[in-house]
Amino acid sequence: MQKKFFLVLFSYLSLLYGDVQLKVLDLSDSHYEIGESMLEYEDTTAKMTLSEIRHLPSKDFIPLNRPVASHPFTNSAFWYQFKVINKEETPLSRLIIFEPAWLDSVTFTVISPKGEVKTYQGGNTYPYSKRALDHYLINFEPLFEPGISTVYVQVKTRDPFIVALSVMDKAAFLAEQVDASMYIGLVYGGIVAMLFYNLFLYFGVKARYYAYYVLFLVAFFAMNASYNGYTFMYLFPHWPTVQNWAQSTSIYFYVVAALLFARSFLNFVKYHHTLYIITTILIFGIVGVAVLSAMIGGYHYHVMLAIISILLISVYLFGIALYSLLTGNHSARFFLLGTASGLIGAFITALTVMSYIPYTYLTYKANDIGMYIDVILLSMALADRMKMTQEKRLIAEKEAKTDILTGLYNRRAYYEISHKEFNRLLRHNRCLSIIMFDIDHFKEINDTYGHDAGDNVLKVVANIVKGVIREYDYAFRMGGDEFLVLLPETNEKQALFLAERIRKRVATKKFIEKDEKFYITASFGISQYNHIERSIETIVKRADKALYHVKESGRNRVKALDKFIRV
Ligand code: GH3
Ligand code: MG
Repeated sequence: MQKKFFLVLFSYLSLLYGDVQLKVLDLSDSHYEIGESMLEYEDTTAKMTLSEIRHLPSKDFIPLNRPVASHPFTNSAFWYQFKVINKEETPLSRLIIFEPAWLDSVTFTVISPKGEVKTYQGGNTYPYSKRALDHYLINFEPLFEPGISTVYVQVKTRDPFIVALSVMDKAAFLAEQVDASMYIGLVYGGIVAMLFYNLFLYFGVKARYYAYYVLFLVAFFAMNASYNGYTFMYLFPHWPTVQNWAQSTSIYFYVVAALLFARSFLNFVKYHHTLYIITTILIFGIVGVAVLSAMIGGYHYHVMLAIISILLISVYLFGIALYSLLTGNHSARFFLLGTASGLIGAFITALTVMSYIPYTYLTYKANDIGMYIDVILLSMALADRMKMTQEKRLIAEKEAKTDILTGLYNRRAYYEISHKEFNRLLRHNRCLSIIMFDIDHFKEINDTYGHDAGDNVLKVVANIVKGVIREYDYAFRMGGDEFLVLLPETNEKQALFLAERIRKRVATKKFIEKDEKFYITASFGISQYNHIERSIETIVKRADKALYHVKESGRNRVKALDKFIRV
């Protein structure tokens, strides 16, 4: 109890006097993101040597107090100090892993309990072969002598500055990598599958936005693989400079591809000409920034402006998607959700590295997760848009075949359907009948009660026909007050019966116009396929002739023309 009291008092006093006591990491366990156990010192000259650093007053080193260190763009070098203890009697080898993969230069120095100094160097500006372990993350494998060793880490990078440092047992790390590789394989495999799927769709559908989506996926893949260090590992392990430039260039590529896709997908050419122009200017602007910053400012400005561009353009994309949706473009729904998830992810990661929200692996990786969700939602946006286009086409096709006034099929549909039905008839040697009918003295109705009353009569007659025919029959308004009913699998007798029903219903239907009631009648001609005819037209002609006979002989009747009368 007493001992504990003195320990607490001692640590309190040491805090007051600036000699900060941090937890000494026990090397028997793995430690992840050890920021809480580290002290930090900013060397604004970026030139200080290890011995200068070691001779600094201890109060100059400040506890980091958070799991990962982070600073926005900086030219300083940052030094970290922590202590480890090897409780064994023999030296212990431990794996030191740094995140992210893009740190330019990391110097790792171990000072053994006996004062021996051993330094390791690595990072993105060193060839890949310098790494202890063949892995996309920067790593070292130092030996720690028994007792307490002090570690100094110097980090220099021209990119946004985050350092997550973990000390691990190599076997434990490698076991974890199995899961990590599975996860990476799943994500990248999914993206490659989507890439090919959309590429094939592009060749099939020929809609340009599929091509842009494929470009967007390629850009996303390139950017993700490069800042996560995979391109360094697999493509240019001997060219650190290429790896560095690939990181910033792929961000510009991604931003441009996202703008191209948005411009095409949200159909600005058709709906928002101004946004089309603004987006086009932005595309050229981003390319200009990429080229000029590389030529004039060098890598530091290139990467800084790339990150600023990606943030600003994400906000812009979200804005235009929202605007597009609010102005009636329904296919912007998934697009908006996608850009929103990308944005939210980016902000969570930004807040995490700035320590506004607690560090966890998920909040740290939120940017990546948001982007994956974005990619998936954009793919859904494409499917959604295809579905909407198809629905629109179906509606347009239906409208093109429909008579607007009556809702019956029109003459255009008649050509298509009658030929299809007749071909079926020939193939299966079945029967078919045609009813042609025409309203009697329709002109008089128009003349007496007006054109609107005439229209109403046409509608009512059409509804009577719709109510009488069966599921597989077709009713057409051929023009004016002339109608045709096509009856597959129906003989003359059945057709006569059906026509008679229509005739009666028409004749008994009471119309009221201008407080006056009136009745109408119609004349019907019928014909049946005679198994000799080679086109539907001859059957229709015979029905027409029968109708003519009825008109001649007093109207309001149904007549079938003998099957073998030549017309
Ligand atoms: P019939 O008994 O010999 O058939 O005499 P009819 O008066 O019905 O003569 P016809 O069939 O030649 O007349 C068709 C009329 O239908 C002529 C035209 O003004 C009218 N008409 C054509 N299309 C429409 C329409 O969409 N609405 C209205 N209200 N009238 C139409
Ligand atoms: Mg008529």
